[in-house]
Amino acid sequence: MSDLRELYQETVMDHNRRPRNFRALDEATCSLEGYNPLCGDRVIVALKLEDGVVTDIGFQGSGCAISKASASMMTETVKGKTREEAEELFQGFHQMITRPDDGDYDPEMLGDLEALAGVAEYPTRIKCVMLGWHTLRGALRGQRETVATEESSRMSEG
Ligand code: ZN
Repeated sequence: MSDLRELYQETVMDHNRRPRNFRALDEATCSLEGYNPLCGDRVIVALKLEDGVVTDIGFQGSGCAISKASASMMTETVKGKTREEAEELFQGFHQMITRPDDGDYDPEMLGDLEALAGVAEYPTRIKCVMLGWHTLRGALRGQRETVATEESSRMSEG
């Protein structure tokens, strides 16, 4: 448990205890469900997209502490961002989470999300931490079928 405790930094624990934007959206323009069969995490991300900007976002569901905290932090981060900025954040976050031991990432761009950087050392947790983000990206791209985190956790070249 000691390595896991390191993972649960204060920010992460706080988001798990008091998830932000944990609610349904009345006027969502897109929403999508995500499922991580490995852990049983389920999340529904709903957002309001106006003129290409995420003006409101909420999530619901149930899952482990990491999946919940990560989804909560994701909603805080992308609110007010454009669709393109949200895609860039996805890439930056994914790069941090799937980086090799000596891999680099951009802490300035990621801000508070850096609290989750330690997850990179726990491959079994990568799908948990990425679930909310995969679901967000699917929703932004107009995907309708449930996103399942079945694909390889390492990004293929190119
Ligand atoms: Zn999980």
